[in-house]
Amino acid sequence: MSEFANRCRTLSSKTGTLTVVAGPSGAGKSTLLHRFMDDRDDCVFAVSCTTRSPRMGEVNGREYYFLSRDEFDAHVRNDDFVEWEELHANRYGTLKSEIERLRAMGRHVLLDLDVKGALNARERLADVLLVFIAPPSLDALERRLRERATDSEEQIAIRLKRVQEEMELAPRFDKCVVNDNLDVAAGELAAILQARMNK
Ligand code: ADP
Ligand code: 5GP
Repeated sequence: MSEFANRCRTLSSKTGTLTVVAGPSGAGKSTLLHRFMDDRDDCVFAVSCTTRSPRMGEVNGREYYFLSRDEFDAHVRNDDFVEWEELHANRYGTLKSEIERLRAMGRHVLLDLDVKGALNARERLADVLLVFIAPPSLDALERRLRERATDSEEQIAIRLKRVQEEMELAPRFDKCVVNDNLDVAAGELAAILQARMNK
């Protein structure tokens, strides 16, 4: 087992839980996570690094650490990431130091990753729970991405192209929530997370 996995195992015996929420872009991961974390001081969101540009209202260190391609690649060379992926023509990765820092604070750590990144994270993180967030249909997903109005038509097309492949990986997750009605899905996710945190 790697030195990092060992350190995580030691930390996990005395600190909060680690849960990865993943699913196709637009499925509702960040909406559901924000709802859950709204009044939860015991939970914290692990901020990833990305090479994509900030969207309107996004703040460095809150939604992401926004890095240049050179900065990101330097972290790759130093083996600083738990996992990283090239997605939609940008790179996204979770720093080992971010996970260690948050776990050492004794809080439950939640990560929002893409589907392949989540499965890769399982290989490297001890005791992680993987939750898949599925859209009710491809049409609904496409509508949500358009209505979110954060991505160009080209970006939306790239995101939609991956969905079939991502949905096929859903059975490899521990839990799945279909985000059709937001209140119902939020309740289901909260129940899964609460059960996990009570253990
Ligand atoms: P993700 O983080 O998975 O990319 P978001 O949370 O940004 O997805 O959600 C994509 C868009 O869909 C957002 O505009 C959000 O407000 C909307 N949305 C999320 N859940 C629902 C839902 N259950 N019904 C309708 N719209 C939703
Ligand atoms: P967006 O550009 O819409 O913020 O995110 C695109 C996708 O990147 C989302 O599906 C999100 O879950 C994923 N993502 C965010 N951070 C990471 C990360 O650190 N690693 C991986 N593999 N995916 C990430």
